[in-house]
Amino acid sequence: MSQNPPDLRPDLAHARLTQETPRPGQPTIGMVSLGCPKALVDSERILTRLRAEGYAISPDYHGAEAVIVNTCGFLDSAKAESLEAIGEALRENGKVIVTGCLGAEPDYITGAHPRVLAVTGPHQYEQVLDAVHAAVPPAPDPFIDLLPAAGVSLTPRHYSYLKISEGCNHHCKFCIIPDMRGRLVSRPAHAVLREAEKLVEAGVKELLVISQDTSAYGVDIRHAEDRGHRAHITDLARDLGSLGAWVRLHYVYPYPHVRHLIPLMATNSDSGGLILPYLDIPFQHAHPETLKRMARPAAAAKTLDEIAAWRRDCPDITLRSTFIVGYPGETEAEFQTLLDWLDEAQLDRVGCFQYENVAGARANDLPDHVPEEVKQERWERFMEKAQAISEAKLAAKVGQRLEVIVDAVDEEGATCRTKADAPEIDGNLFIDEGFEGLAPGEIVTVEVDEAGEYDLWGRLPAKP
Ligand code: SF4
Repeated sequence: MSQNPPDLRPDLAHARLTQETPRPGQPTIGMVSLGCPKALVDSERILTRLRAEGYAISPDYHGAEAVIVNTCGFLDSAKAESLEAIGEALRENGKVIVTGCLGAEPDYITGAHPRVLAVTGPHQYEQVLDAVHAAVPPAPDPFIDLLPAAGVSLTPRHYSYLKISEGCNHHCKFCIIPDMRGRLVSRPAHAVLREAEKLVEAGVKELLVISQDTSAYGVDIRHAEDRGHRAHITDLARDLGSLGAWVRLHYVYPYPHVRHLIPLMATNSDSGGLILPYLDIPFQHAHPETLKRMARPAAAAKTLDEIAAWRRDCPDITLRSTFIVGYPGETEAEFQTLLDWLDEAQLDRVGCFQYENVAGARANDLPDHVPEEVKQERWERFMEKAQAISEAKLAAKVGQRLEVIVDAVDEEGATCRTKADAPEIDGNLFIDEGFEGLAPGEIVTVEVDEAGEYDLWGRLPAKP
């Protein structure tokens, strides 16, 4: 699990959260948000509520009366990082409330840091707020404390994560998320849509749909229809696509019904172009035996056939995925199958992790753990192939005109993303000349004139 990049970390002064100076007597809270985009959404929700209750958000430890640390407990390395962040907040501020995934193990936290004020688990928003109220009582002012239209967002204003469900019904052996976050609980579609509408009204240009298992959305509520909206990913994607923002789907598993999403992406179909031609599918491996040992959902899916069908229906589709190499019992032959599969699948964007034990995960007890040096060697071979594929795919874009969204502009240029690039995890398109009139959130067409291993460079077409 990665930590939010510096410009998304509230503890490192995100400009939009810090432009308001707290008024005299206004209670002020700081937040350190660690972990994945899903944890970031939790942080946003907590801050939204606190702002609605009249709290100011401090960009640094010293301006805050207490600090919330939203932790990640997915990997042992993430746990260590969370403990370190709690220690730093205690040293710098002294009043610390811990929440998030690692909060599911309160003894682990209080064993290392007995001075923390409270420990709450993932998505226990009410408990976090109770702990904040106890540490720093609210001082409401109904004339001033209006909730901003889009809530408080830790991500830049022009894109926002949209969480559609919590938890997961699967039991992948390397993962403890179902133990920490529980079984799948889908938000009603009308509630997701209302949140999305508010975000778009407030200027959000790109919605990033996230959950543990996006294609399973609504399974727990039997895809119930409520207030005219059915809780099914195809319906939800269509509804979200009608709002006029870019809609990007993350964490989609290759279930057969994913096929029905593709026409919403393809510009050559009647309903097409509603959502971005982009699927983030965590395949994790390609050998059926490895997948079985991982207890992955859709382990038996004929993924190459599915990919071919998606590409047939939507030739522009970008496929991103993550993989684990060196999973217990992975033989050289299994790994070679993965490499051959990747050769054939030609995925556009790929992330790869070397298997790591996670405390409490069932994979720890599997036989035949792979030696570290073998994991490293497989990782290098995998990344070499993935990089070559990425490079060739990007080279083929040189000369094309593509729509991009501008993320940032400084004196050196504009950092943008094409429809094929999700923020934080994929590449960028850079404009080095003639960018001065651009602003973050703008969507413009560029001509691609150079390609690297993961990024593109382009220029704005000359005006006629
Ligand atoms: S699908 Fe598997 S890896 Fe993903 S959250 Fe569920 S159990 Fe974990």
